[in-house]
Amino acid sequence: MNILVINCGSSSLKYQLINMNNEEVIAKGLVERIGMEGSVVKHRTTGKEEVLIEEPMKDHKKALELVLNALVDSNYGAIKSMDEIGAVGHRVVHGGEKFANSVLIDDEVMEALNECIDLAPLHNPPNIMGIEACKALMPNTPMVGVFDTAFHQTIPMANYIYPLPYELYEKYGIRKYGFHGTSHKYVSLKAAEILNKDIEKINVITCHLGNGASVCAIQGGKSVDTSMGFTPLEGLAMGTRSGNIDPAIIPFIMEKENLTVDEVNELLNKKSGVLGISGISSDFRDLEEAAAEGHERAQLALDVFCNRVKKYIGAYVTMMCHVDALVFTAGIGENSVFVRKKICDGLECIGIEIDEELNDIRGKEAIVSKDTSPVAILVIPTNEELMIARDTLEIINK
Ligand code: AMP
Repeated sequence: MNILVINCGSSSLKYQLINMNNEEVIAKGLVERIGMEGSVVKHRTTGKEEVLIEEPMKDHKKALELVLNALVDSNYGAIKSMDEIGAVGHRVVHGGEKFANSVLIDDEVMEALNECIDLAPLHNPPNIMGIEACKALMPNTPMVGVFDTAFHQTIPMANYIYPLPYELYEKYGIRKYGFHGTSHKYVSLKAAEILNKDIEKINVITCHLGNGASVCAIQGGKSVDTSMGFTPLEGLAMGTRSGNIDPAIIPFIMEKENLTVDEVNELLNKKSGVLGISGISSDFRDLEEAAAEGHERAQLALDVFCNRVKKYIGAYVTMMCHVDALVFTAGIGENSVFVRKKICDGLECIGIEIDEELNDIRGKEAIVSKDTSPVAILVIPTNEELMIARDTLEIINK
């Protein structure tokens, strides 16, 4: 069976069509600038040239219509008709406390998704638009929602409650939810597979280090803590997000700089992180290059980033007592030899010993720890689309 995986942003739509018999990607693509001038579908069927379809798209429905046409096109398509799409898996950012697992989408689920908009006002509305568009164009195809937050619903209460008045949790659901769940789950399962161990019998720390970044403590296959929180702003220093800061800084800068709520949100989400510290870029390739040329603030940004990851690893080792594997994934985790080395340096005291030669790899699966290292260190390219497709298949087969 073929499964279409859809990931909708406010003006973008990413998709992959996966043949679940062999888990191979048959076609994939990206739609950009939905609802704006210059909208385009970049489509590629495996084994064929990429095509650009430049057409006005007033909304996600029009974008999806063009994607489906591209998939069945007789020249550059991948399938003969839409009947060859057995189900659609939708990535949904926030499932609140309602969804601890992926679900078959029905009217009740749509209602619950709409109720979660308050928790993720930037992310959930485009996800919902994507589902609505699919329902309109493929009314008879089953659809499954796969949530970024679901994997973290096993986090114990003592780790997810903030030390704030308890009524705020009851009234507004203010608690840690955690994100990147699909990625943390995928790489932890893959780590168990590579190490030939039962996921239920091992403890893993996964570091999803991309433009957004989070660390997760996984005990016996279940998330028990993660660095992101009520929103994806908490935790590590990221490309442009601040991560943890003293909360008193927020009213202080609002007053001093005369900032509105929107402006301070923009500052913390878009102008902070390694971009804010370095003043030059949020991209680690630029920062590593600048630091090597002696740019002090680029070096400082890298130091802050790595120190924070180190602190979370230390905390999670202590919390779980024993750790079998440490996994690096996402853009930085998979590709930055420098960052992996810098994070692991000094962690020998807690059993984390990286091998410099083995670590000299980019973008592929590998064990990079020394033979003597009590904790196995792995690099595993994440594959959220495949995880979504697997969940979708499992749910519709039930
Ligand atoms: P992601 O959000 O997972 O797509 O990760 C994107 C980030 O990965 C980019 O902003 C870069 O900072 C980082 N990245 C990608 N390739 C490399 C590389 N070769 N070396 C260092 N960082 C990289």
